Amino acid sequence: MITISSKLPDVGTNIFTYIGKLAHQHNAVNLSQGFPNFSPDPKLLQLVDKALKGGHNQYAPMQGTFTLREIISEKIKTLYGKTYHPESEITITAGATQAIFTAISTFVRQDDEVIVLKPAYDCYEPAIELFGAKVVPVQLEGPDYKIDWNTFKSAIGPKTKMVIINTPHNPTGTIWSENDMLQLQEILKDTNIILLSDEVYEHIVFDGKAHQSVSKFPDLATRSIVCSSFGKTFHVTGWKVGYCIAPKSLMEEFQKVHQFNVFCVNHPTQKALTEYLKTPGHYLDLNAFYQKKRDYFLEAVKGSKFEMIPSAGTYFQLLDYSKITNEGDTDFAERLIKENKLASIPVSVFNLNNRDDKQLRFCFAKTDDVLDQAAEILNGI
Ligand code: PMP
Ligand code: GLN
Repeated sequence: MITISSKLPDVGTNIFTYIGKLAHQHNAVNLSQGFPNFSPDPKLLQLVDKALKGGHNQYAPMQGTFTLREIISEKIKTLYGKTYHPESEITITAGATQAIFTAISTFVRQDDEVIVLKPAYDCYEPAIELFGAKVVPVQLEGPDYKIDWNTFKSAIGPKTKMVIINTPHNPTGTIWSENDMLQLQEILKDTNIILLSDEVYEHIVFDGKAHQSVSKFPDLATRSIVCSSFGKTFHVTGWKVGYCIAPKSLMEEFQKVHQFNVFCVNHPTQKALTEYLKTPGHYLDLNAFYQKKRDYFLEAVKGSKFEMIPSAGTYFQLLDYSKITNEGDTDFAERLIKENKLASIPVSVFNLNNRDDKQLRFCFAKTDDVLDQAAEILNGI
């Protein structure tokens, strides 16, 4: 037997795999892992079919196809007013997960510190730890999860290499305002800190609000790597195609690692996405599409004992069950699966020291019949 010293001794199977398996075993209505249960636009599928049959089946260029990078550049310019040059400032990645992992591995060294706002999506911290750096968590407080800028400022020190932010936010469904961005910009001004901005839900923002991309803020943009995901935007989470953008000096370093990490990403889907992105409605209509789903779900559960603040973005809704039971959220989530046949994600897994605020996360990227089934269960609890 060889002896192995784990580089991630405290990491187990992640929550999505664990709950997904349990949900499957108990044949539960599954609102846990975030993915749509409906098909993408047939037009998009036809475009992939055309690309597959059209011979785009060998390696794509390392950075992604030029035409896809070009149209992404145009989209960002139109939406956020900043030009990212397709030849040097955009990379197509194997989903946002690879972009995030590659960005962390490119810039974070042994003994650096990285500030992570909690609750945080689960892929940031293991990557930071793998490269010998320290996670400096800053816990956001519910129910609104607004950042306390004084606490944030006091987390910054001489070893801070990177800050990771995520708006719209998974798991809370909150979004950052323009003022939040300006505060962050002011605090990071004159520092050498890199900002990693996870904007995978950039096209899922509700109630007429605008997504605040760091690309809109010149001082932030110069220090930022921004990640996005076609999986979320076009209902194709299984494709694992996304992109990241950054100023040339950062992107050059990113690509040094990217070329040995995946080298390049799935070619036919890049061809299809290029065509599909030519119609801005394909992504601009997403806000209204998911707002309708959020409202449908909220209306359906409004008579239940769960309490909620409507999600402001993402396809997740938090439900507070503190009026129902004192049980820990992981226990309650498991019991809901086993006894009530409904799967959700306990929010404590994303919190500092697994703080338990008695909240569960439900994904409403589901057809109405599934949302109805879930609501019927929730209303009976
Ligand atoms: N960041 C957040 C906040 C997410 O919710 C997800 C969803 N999986 C990702 C990153 C990863 O995106 P992708 O599936 O494109 O890797
Ligand atoms: N982003 C998805 C979620 O938060 C999960 C992706 C995954 O399974 N890693 O539910």
